[in-house]
Amino acid sequence: MPARRRGRTEEERVAAGGAELVLAGRGVRRGHLEPMEIGIDGEGRILRVARSVRGARRHDLGDRLLLPAATDLHVHFRHADRPRGDESFADGTIQAALGGVALVGEMPNSDPPVTTADRARDRRAAGRGRLAVDMLLYGALTEARRVPGLARECGAFKLYLAPTTGIGAAPEPDRVPELLRAVAAVDAPLSVHAEEPTRFLPGAVPTDTAGWDAARPFASEAAAIERILGVAPTGMRLNFAHVTGSASVERVARAGFACEVTSHHLLLAARRGGGAREKVNPPLRPEEERLRLFDDFARGRIPFLASDHAPHPPESKEGPFAGAPSGMPGVASQLPLLLAEVRRGGLGLAELLRAACERPALWFGAPFGRLAAGYRADLLVVDPRNRRPIRAADRPTPCGWTAFEGWEAIFPEEHYRAGLRIVEGGEYIGRPVGTFHRPGFLRER
Ligand SMILES: [Zn+2]
Repeated sequence: MPARRRGRTEEERVAAGGAELVLAGRGVRRGHLEPMEIGIDGEGRILRVARSVRGARRHDLGDRLLLPAATDLHVHFRHADRPRGDESFADGTIQAALGGVALVGEMPNSDPPVTTADRARDRRAAGRGRLAVDMLLYGALTEARRVPGLARECGAFKLYLAPTTGIGAAPEPDRVPELLRAVAAVDAPLSVHAEEPTRFLPGAVPTDTAGWDAARPFASEAAAIERILGVAPTGMRLNFAHVTGSASVERVARAGFACEVTSHHLLLAARRGGGAREKVNPPLRPEEERLRLFDDFARGRIPFLASDHAPHPPESKEGPFAGAPSGMPGVASQLPLLLAEVRRGGLGLAELLRAACERPALWFGAPFGRLAAGYRADLLVVDPRNRRPIRAADRPTPCGWTAFEGWEAIFPEEHYRAGLRIVEGGEYIGRPVGTFHRPGFLRER
């Protein structure tokens, strides 16, 4: 009897030429879809991508698509555990897995907010053993003296210019330059929520998304971007979160910095009668602005797609518009919704993959997001024919609602994390072995 290891003979290992598993399907190379085989090694990394790869085990996917899993730079999971029936790290990361996301950036306006290194350590400890996919924590940029400590615990920073859930007060404008310099000094990525509260309409009591757009107008975003660009150190890793207008995209690119757009700003518009479920910050904009933003995205002018996933409990969105919290869930739906847009012909697959997978992973310094040797084998299997309407009730999360109920989407049928299947037949089958990404890891590349 030949010696067996992990269920295979030594002869089979030799015959395999190193690859433990080969996935055979179609993938994007040099901007085009073509037959592709991906060899994965025993460590869960991509060994080889070619027309034909030899390996011990083969998984033939016919003409289904092999895509890199996504990185979502912007989610709010709020609670590591689940004290009140809210979504937890476990629920949120399972949603990410189902939506084809391999790595999430978790925002610091949590409960309690991540404003110190101790808080970041506590949050990591609370998340251990609960993550279905990987996570990178943001630290809140509130005091320059805390930046070096937070940078050792978090992978990125977030700056709020207006008060938000969990962060009661924004820093005084004259302290912002010092905060930006502190982040530039540790070479960490910084995301800025760019809304200038002095430009909000005072005394407005909006009753729909059109009113919300008027109350927090685009001018407040433009003013906040100008303020930050005026003091940002050259060469810092600066990203403007969830921009809502084409003018922002153009201005930020001209200054040499990055920006992200959410699936809701790409797909939904402010309108009369638009309800509290579509209340987000910054607000949805009118249809003609949405179309310009979508066109920018389709032309590859917006570096990152991010969900700004905010899984508020359904009852919190049922009261009067003015009192409802801002934000909507999105980590599970953003890639499937945009894959459906690709299928309809409104967006190129290569452009989508660059914004959803490749560039955000690079921004976080993570070896994900590309089908290339040496990258981690975080892969999706997608059948573009398998379109189906989104039904919140089908999703295993306490959040239980979506602003995209009934919208056509293409969910990944399979999701591999480091070469192991965590989603099969569209159902989560993984174990909570997701890890936290740390700055040391970030600087490896
Ligand atoms: Zn957010």
